[in-house]
Amino acid sequence: MLLIDGKKIASEIKQEIAREVQQIKAQGGKTPHLAAVLVGHDGASETYVAGKVKACEEVGFTSTLVRYEDDISEATVLNTVNELNNNPDIDGFIVQLPLPDHISESKVIEAIDPKKDVDGFHPVNLGRMVLGMPAFISATPAGIIELIRRYEIPTSGKNCVVVGRSNIVGKPISILLSQKTYPGDATVTLCHSRTRNLNEIIKASDIIIAALGKPEFVRADMVREGAVVIDVGITRVKSEVTKSGWKLIGDVKFDEVAPKCSYITPVPGGVGVMTIVSLLKNTLLAAKCEIYP
Ligand code: NDP
Repeated sequence: MLLIDGKKIASEIKQEIAREVQQIKAQGGKTPHLAAVLVGHDGASETYVAGKVKACEEVGFTSTLVRYEDDISEATVLNTVNELNNNPDIDGFIVQLPLPDHISESKVIEAIDPKKDVDGFHPVNLGRMVLGMPAFISATPAGIIELIRRYEIPTSGKNCVVVGRSNIVGKPISILLSQKTYPGDATVTLCHSRTRNLNEIIKASDIIIAALGKPEFVRADMVREGAVVIDVGITRVKSEVTKSGWKLIGDVKFDEVAPKCSYITPVPGGVGVMTIVSLLKNTLLAAKCEIYP
């Protein structure tokens, strides 16, 4: 069994990005600039955005944080999006989700210029991804693809099950792994809460992507010998042994499943740590106008 070390890969990619930024600067180019819009004081969102700003600093990007209180109007957020769209110094930006109920997330996402949509949530980027065109791919599926690529895990002709059909994880990764390329060329089954015979489908799969948000759902008896297991799930549960009083649990019962796998991602330290790196990569691509020349 080989552990897919997301931490190690993420750190390597950060170093690669930092080197490229140094080169760009040395050649007199513009420093990549990521902006983030944060509305309210949701604890998880604050942590994510702080992590993104810190990661920008680590690789030498410029970052800008635009903060608003919970009661900000939708019009003001849309206006900010418009300003960021038109600010030539900003290469890419994100609006941290979730937004308060009175602000339409889809309206805000659709207002973002696809060329600056480094989260890859805009319908234009999703559509381009489906068509196999250059596109900003959202962070979690992009992170999974990068892990598969860096570990040179074969995907062609493999049976792959994706459990969970959300727009940000399950659906896009199922499309990416069925594209006619590497990583891809897999025969993908996309499962959800209405799927019949889920255990049999998982058991028949060479690659299992668990993204349903049910802690330790995938057990050893559901996994075939030699399977590749990518655990996307993150659930915070109370713990008496950690200092914080919390620990993170994946969708896979790691201890019993790991011995049966050829590759497996841990939680934490697997897919999760790749997400910020994917955002940095997209920002660099935006700065270099590589997706939309
Ligand atoms: P959602 O809640 O949006 O979607 C969950 C999906 O799982 C749905 O499609 C649902 O089916 C399906 N599902 C739920 N229960 C079952 C079941 N018993 N059997 C089969 N399918 C089921 O989740 P997200 O995609 O947003 O997140 C999934 C997990 O990944 C969460 O733990 C989340 O925290 C984590 N996550 C991790 C990230 C990372 O960076 N590592 C990033 C994003 C999410 P249906 O559609 O029928 O309701």
